[in-house]
Amino acid sequence: MVETHEVVIVGAGFAGVSAAKELASHGVDVLLVDKNNYHQFQPLIYQVATAQIANRDVARPLRAIFRRDRSVKVTTAEVTKIDAGTRTVTTSDGLEFRGRILVIATGAEVNFFGIPGADEHAFPLYSLDDAARLRSRLLGALDAADRDRRYVEKGALNVVIVGGGATGVETAGAVAESMREVVPAYLSKEVAASGKVYLVDMLPDILMPFSEKSRKYAAERLRAAGVELKLGVSVTEVRKDGVLLKDGTFIPSRTVVWAGGLKARGLLGDSGLPQGKGGRIDVGPELTVPGFEGVYALGDSANITDAKGQKLPQLGSVAQQSGKWVARNILADLRGGRREPFVYRDKGIMAMIGRGAAIAELGSKHQHFAGPLAFLAWLGVHVALMSGVRERIGAVVSWFWDYGTRRRPQIVVDRPDAYRIDWSEPEQGGKQEQKKQQRARASA
Ligand SMILES: Cc1cc2nc3c(=O)[nH]c(=O)nc-3n(C[C@H](O)[C@H](O)[C@H](O)COP(=O)(O)OP(=O)(O)OC[C@H]3O[C@@H](n4cnc5c(N)ncnc54)[C@H](O)[C@@H]3O)c2cc1C
Repeated sequence: MVETHEVVIVGAGFAGVSAAKELASHGVDVLLVDKNNYHQFQPLIYQVATAQIANRDVARPLRAIFRRDRSVKVTTAEVTKIDAGTRTVTTSDGLEFRGRILVIATGAEVNFFGIPGADEHAFPLYSLDDAARLRSRLLGALDAADRDRRYVEKGALNVVIVGGGATGVETAGAVAESMREVVPAYLSKEVAASGKVYLVDMLPDILMPFSEKSRKYAAERLRAAGVELKLGVSVTEVRKDGVLLKDGTFIPSRTVVWAGGLKARGLLGDSGLPQGKGGRIDVGPELTVPGFEGVYALGDSANITDAKGQKLPQLGSVAQQSGKWVARNILADLRGGRREPFVYRDKGIMAMIGRGAAIAELGSKHQHFAGPLAFLAWLGVHVALMSGVRERIGAVVSWFWDYGTRRRPQIVVDRPDAYRIDWSEPEQGGKQEQKKQQRARASA
């Protein structure tokens, strides 16, 4: 039997939650479906991976978010099929939900761009589970090096981050800071001194959406923190024992972080909806899907062009604002009003590099700030954006603890599979290949 609702929203990220909240404030019957029972705050995922903050600080139960919103029903289920023509979704356990209006807000998933070995050996960083796995791997590599220094030669203390966007830069900064300031407190200065962080990107510079001034500052700070930038060179293969670059360099490592890109969820591929760049759904300015009456797509799952004709990036602020806007257009649909084209208010962009070092380009004119002021702005903005008072307090306490004492109470291994490292030599590759690797190792 098909369960029907006024509005069915698939995905409870920034976009889905903000749409559901706005509709709830008008008493509209909403079914919100997500495969997780929590909303995750993606911008802080990398801090979970580096044990700066706790899992619970970035995940808030959906039922807690909507406990006072009587018109919103939350369902935990994975949607496996979307029939956009009838606005019906099917879940992995065979349930069917139909909306008079269907909202697709399923976000994005990691894109390995078909690079051999990346899906098998690299650690993506786009979900809470990813963060817990990466944290366990970082701890596994550090413990191995502490146990037996021979593992250092095998790359135990080399962390390679692929992708020089905000996620890659923030992760590289956080890992380098941990190596320098936190590892000596728990292990030894010797282990910390052998740690090496690489940031690799095929583009000639990092943080491309930022101004040259911000990019220069970020690169300088990363280098000062000990990060080696390998720019203008692509990754050709990720192996269990390291990363091969196009220029022939091989970096031995057991911790390769993939921050190399995103694409729309595979689920959208079978929906028949019009897919454009990155597999995302091309929507009109009102965030509706052309040719599919009553279907909206938003946030990271959509290619959004706003009322001024500018193509919008995949950002939390775009997702949140588009969620609210969709809700207003849905109210117009249900109550006989007129839909309006999406007007995006650009409040700026920012990225964290480490303690006292961040960049912020604020307001629609993207006024540049760097250093301690930008660092404080970054912390303030992220606290304001978080959902839930307890989560905000948790994050602030963790930051005080971390930035003040250089201690990380969250260094717990909760993914033993990721913690365990297979140190055996890779089987493939003949003697010639192994010689090539040895030469490359010597030059890395
Ligand atoms: C590591 C990282 C750091 C970032 N930092 C920043 C930042 O500093 N500032 C900024 O503005 N933006 C940042 N972003 C981008 C921002 O987080 C995204 O643009 C935003 O989360 C998109 O929101 P969304 O609601 O469209 O998708 P998401 O937040 O990805 O939510 C999608 C939801 O859909 C659910 N879902 C997916 N598939 C299914 C399915 N089949 N069935 C049921 N549910 C499903 C997921 O569980 C998830 O809850 C960052 C992103 C990442 C990954």
